[in-house]
Amino acid sequence: MSKLEIVQIPTRSDNYVYIFREPDQGQVGVVDPSDAAPVIEALEKQGWALTHIFNTHHHGDHTGGNLELQEKYGCTIVGPGPDHDRIPGIGVDVADGDTYNFGGAVATVFDTPGHTHGHNAYWFEESDALFCGDTLFALGCGRVFEGTAEQMWGSLDKLRALPDSTLVYCAHEYTQSNAKFAVTIETGNQALIDRAAEIDALRAENKRTVPSRLGVEKATNPFLRADLASVAAAVGMSGSGPVDVFAEVRARKDNF
Ligand code: ZN
Ligand code: FE
Repeated sequence: MSKLEIVQIPTRSDNYVYIFREPDQGQVGVVDPSDAAPVIEALEKQGWALTHIFNTHHHGDHTGGNLELQEKYGCTIVGPGPDHDRIPGIGVDVADGDTYNFGGAVATVFDTPGHTHGHNAYWFEESDALFCGDTLFALGCGRVFEGTAEQMWGSLDKLRALPDSTLVYCAHEYTQSNAKFAVTIETGNQALIDRAAEIDALRAENKRTVPSRLGVEKATNPFLRADLASVAAAVGMSGSGPVDVFAEVRARKDNF
């Protein structure tokens, strides 16, 4: 069991790409390379040679660097089996509950559909690290493009079960706009109000708000809280089930 050294790379307007190294065998991974150039630059700065790409889903801002990186490093591309045909260069399909040995580290795979048909999250337990792509964001969640609200709620519910200490390495810096929305839903959640103020302060200095701790998300992220009576009441749906409440909160965010 070995802990990853993780480096966060901001790319494009608001993407985060992550490179990491496990110390036992020196394997090096990247999650969702939007583009090859910033990844190569970061790898060279670290003195690391890429062995693996982990893709969460097929969108271009998550796979745009796949083929160029594979060409340069001959790395193995691991991705969601259900979207095999839409992941450039994929070599290893993984699915829910699989474990993938990455040198001395182990990734547990969660199938988290909703944003796209095939979507994976990768959990490195001994590093307390969750790479969740566009499923769970700090104070938000991904848009439901290819799946249903029921699937997305199920995906979030699955991730929510991980330890509170888990660091949520999501794929975008969307936190400030998510916070502006979240406070319109849970107007009385003091932890959320305080967090929104902290986020404003960080962003005013152009600082990153990602990763966040899952325990903090569970206390403040309305999309993880759709099964609470207080959230149902806040959207005028007391007595409704979590899928319907989640769908309503998601719809309001889409129109925010
Ligand atoms: Zn996406
Ligand atoms: Fe994205």
